[in-house]
Amino acid sequence: MRYSIQRELVLQRILSAKIHPTAEWIFNEVKKEKSNISFGTVYRNLTQLIDRGLIRLIQFNGIAHYDGNMNPHNHFICNECSQIYDIEIELEDFISEMELKTNHYVSSYHIKVRGTCRKCKVN
Ligand SMILES: [Zn+2]
Repeated sequence: MRYSIQRELVLQRILSAKIHPTAEWIFNEVKKEKSNISFGTVYRNLTQLIDRGLIRLIQFNGIAHYDGNMNPHNHFICNECSQIYDIEIELEDFISEMELKTNHYVSSYHIKVRGTCRKCKVN
């Protein structure tokens, strides 16, 4: 991959954010360091990073969020505050039981769980 300072900047902001940011959020953050960068450039770099497997795209409520955690994991989204949490629990048993019952072969999966997060639960 040809090195690009802009792409590196975009990637670093996603990796350090840990909040599954939107393109808008990333654009505003990168702008702080590179004031002349356009939204189109940020968006193009996001697409390139996805194509190269460095980040992944997840849709929540029809909004695109970007995830720099490439370890296999699933997500929990809070109905109250819309915060997205990483869930790192193995789902091997669920997947193998599903394969057994349906005779489908699972090559990849991503599970989204909805509810009320621990912060909103106490309020
Ligand atoms: Zn995640």
